[in-house]
Amino acid sequence: MIHNLTQHTLDNEHFFQAKDFQALQSMFLQNVGHELRTPLSIILGYAILLHEETLGGLTPKQQQATTHIIGYIQKLQTLIEQMDVLLAAEMRRGYQEPLLLSDVVHDVLETKKLSIQQAGLTLSLETAEDIPVIFGDEQHLSQAIRCLLDNAIKFTPRNRQIGVQVYEDAGHVCVAVSDMGIGIDADELRRIFTPFYQVDGSSARRYNGLGLGLGIVRAVVDEHDGEIEVDSQIGDGSRFTLKFPVTRPVTQVKELSSADSAAQTTWRVLIVDDEENVVNVLQESLSSLPGCEVFTATHAHQALRILEQTPCDLLVTDYRMPDMDGLALASRVFQLYPETPVIVISAYIDKMLEESNRLSSIQQILNKPVDLIRFRHVVLTVLSGNTMGSEQANGE
Ligand code: ADP
Repeated sequence: MIHNLTQHTLDNEHFFQAKDFQALQSMFLQNVGHELRTPLSIILGYAILLHEETLGGLTPKQQQATTHIIGYIQKLQTLIEQMDVLLAAEMRRGYQEPLLLSDVVHDVLETKKLSIQQAGLTLSLETAEDIPVIFGDEQHLSQAIRCLLDNAIKFTPRNRQIGVQVYEDAGHVCVAVSDMGIGIDADELRRIFTPFYQVDGSSARRYNGLGLGLGIVRAVVDEHDGEIEVDSQIGDGSRFTLKFPVTRPVTQVKELSSADSAAQTTWRVLIVDDEENVVNVLQESLSSLPGCEVFTATHAHQALRILEQTPCDLLVTDYRMPDMDGLALASRVFQLYPETPVIVISAYIDKMLEESNRLSSIQQILNKPVDLIRFRHVVLTVLSGNTMGSEQANGE
């Protein structure tokens, strides 16, 4: 029914593009999460006060009731947290930085030791040495690995083993979580990554869970341009392997750009920021890329004048600027030169994201202060023609 209504809106009113609808849906879920968070933490606060008998003595039955209330509120809080990660990963709004996946795995395992022990399981951990760096969002990757571990713990009977391996394979850093649990039917494998899907969806299901875990895993893997492999046999256990592309070191990026620049001798990049120091730093960081010619402006009108004389392959603009801000400039550039991709740099990302959803020419939104390695990586990716989703780092 809902599907038909959506179809009707799309077909007949031409009001929302599918992309806009998805963005609206994500924004709606995000707002709901946001609106629920505060009342839930207040309810939890009062429930704890009651439970601790700060507000007066309780009978054993009342104690039991407050324990249940606290448990369910915490479950709802986990759901909201997981929804947040799912939405952020789907919108590629994580902050990516160079990191070692083995460190992330170690940190997650540290928090899971007790549950593994309580579930009567043993853990085997194998981490290869000299694992290369990947570009990733630590919080999102941790959440994905945590979800895989939670499932391995949940679906494996006592006295068995779960395994975690981190290794490199064919240009990817891989993390595999394996268990000796109940396994998954082959027919179910393509469905289990759908958010809220559970193989046993009956009300009498034996295992707790929200059905969001593997949806998060998939979203986080997509966010990192990675791959997932699942190997499972009913009764024998499952193995989930996540594969993330190894980050090219900057020197290799340079080699790549010189090879590319043989085909296209020059990429022209225009950097606009009202703070001259920022312009200088960004210009400097691109100067080491062969075949990259950088133009600079300290306000939007100057940028437009430069573009009139010299078509550019990429516009990098600050958001907050006097007279005309970065989004207004991006929108003007889109009207005049629709093929020119734009990277926006801002310390006000939340507000920006709402507004920038309307502009398809914006390839990437970067947080201020800019991580220069990330900046170079993003510039090269956009110049080499790969489109990127909007992405957010933590606000300043
Ligand atoms: P849930 O909260 O139900 O675990 P997930 O999205 O993490 O939600 O997983 C979806 C479904 O996939 C689970 O309900 C379960 O049926 C199946 N599943 C996931 N991981 C495993 C595993 N390691 N072993 C067996 N079944 C699994």
